[in-house]
Amino acid sequence: MAVKATRMALLLYNAAMSVETTGSSDTPKQRLQLPALSLAELTQFMKAAGQPAFRAKQVCDWVNKGITDPARMANLPAALQQALNEGLICSPLTLIERQTSTDGTRKYLFGLERGGNIETVLIPEPSRGTVCVSSQLGCVLDCPFCHTGTQRFSGNLSAGEIVAQVLAVKDDLRNDPLPEGLHTDVTHIVYMGMGEPLANEDGVHDSLSLLMGEQGLNISRRRITVSTSGLVPQIMRLGEAAPVNLAISLHAGSDALRDELVPINRKYPLQELRAALDAYPLPAQRHITLEYVMLAGVNDRDADLDALCAFVNPQRERVNLIHFNAWPGSPYTGTSQQHMHRFAGLLINKGLRATVRRSRGDDIMAACGQLKSHLGGQLKSQLEQRAASADSRDSDTTVSGD
Ligand code: SF4
Repeated sequence: MAVKATRMALLLYNAAMSVETTGSSDTPKQRLQLPALSLAELTQFMKAAGQPAFRAKQVCDWVNKGITDPARMANLPAALQQALNEGLICSPLTLIERQTSTDGTRKYLFGLERGGNIETVLIPEPSRGTVCVSSQLGCVLDCPFCHTGTQRFSGNLSAGEIVAQVLAVKDDLRNDPLPEGLHTDVTHIVYMGMGEPLANEDGVHDSLSLLMGEQGLNISRRRITVSTSGLVPQIMRLGEAAPVNLAISLHAGSDALRDELVPINRKYPLQELRAALDAYPLPAQRHITLEYVMLAGVNDRDADLDALCAFVNPQRERVNLIHFNAWPGSPYTGTSQQHMHRFAGLLINKGLRATVRRSRGDDIMAACGQLKSHLGGQLKSQLEQRAASADSRDSDTTVSGD
C-alpha cells in the first residue's frame, strides 16, 4: 500500500510539475514509465496536469497500438504532448538494431533508458505472432548450457520495460509489415528471453496485469506463458496471482543430473518442484510444458529417459524436446535430430505427450537460450555463434504425442 501511495504521489507531483515547467528544461529526476500506467493512473495524471479525463483514454489507445511517443499522438494538444514528455518516461526502450531471420523471425536489440541492453524476439506464424520478452539484464542462475547465463547479471526489468518490448514490436509490425501469409499482430507472449522471470516477481506480475488488463492489451492468460527454471515458492505465488501458462526448464529427470544442468535444483530439488507443479492451477485441456534441451551423451541416454518418465505427470504435463545449438566455449554438443525423434517416440510409447521443437531464428541467434545482449557492433559475430536452448519460445513441432 505504501509503495502504491508513493507511486501515485510521484505521478501526481510530476504531472503538476510538468505543467508548471512546460516550456522550460526542468525535468523531474524520478519519473514513472508510460507503458506501466493503468487507465486509472493516466486519468489521475490528466487531472493533475489540468487536462480533461477523456485525454487519458486517448493516450491509452495510442499506447495499446504500440505508440508511446507523445509527438505521434496526433489528437493530443501540443501542451499535453509536452507535459507527458516531461512528467513521464514515455519510451523506456530505444531500438538499437533489428535482425530478420530467413524464416521471418525478428530479433530486436533495445537500449534501456537507464542504461544496458536487452533482446526481444518476434516469432511470426500464419495464425499467431509470439513475442518473447526478456525479464532481466543477464541472469544469475548460471545454467551451464545457456548463453544468457554467461552474461553478467545487472538488474531486473521494470513492468514498463517488459510491456514496452511488446509495444515496440507492435509498432514495428505496423511500420514494416511481415510478408504475406504471416500473422500481422502480437497474439501471444512468452517470458522466455533473457533472465529468470520468477526472480523478478514484481516486474513480471505487474507486467502481466498490464498485458492482461481490459484497458491494456487485453491478452488472455491462455496466450501468455511464463518459463522458469523452477523457483518453487514463486511458482506457487504465480499460480495464485496470475495463473498463466507455465513452462519449466527441466532438462533432467534426476536430481543428480539436474543439480549440474540447472543449479537452482540444489535449492529446490525435483520433489519440491513436483509438489509445486501438481498444485499449479491449470485450465481445462491445458498442460504444463517441461522443456528438455537435448545434450549428447549427457541427458539423452536410456537411463535419462527412464528418469524423465518417472518424473512427468502425463495427465498434466507434456515434454518439449529442444535442439541444443553449441556456442563457442560451451561444454556440450547437441543430440542428433535422428536421436531426438527416437527419444520423443519412446516417450510417446510410454504414454507421455512429447514434441520436438522446430527451432526458429537460429541464423540470427534468436533461437531459445541464444539471447545475450550485445552492443550493436558485436552483433555480426553472433552469426558465428550457436547457443543453448533453454526455454519454450518456439512453438512449431515436428513430432507430437498430443
Ligand atoms: S536457462 Fe534461464 S535460468 Fe538458466 S541461466 Fe539461462 S536464462 Fe538463466
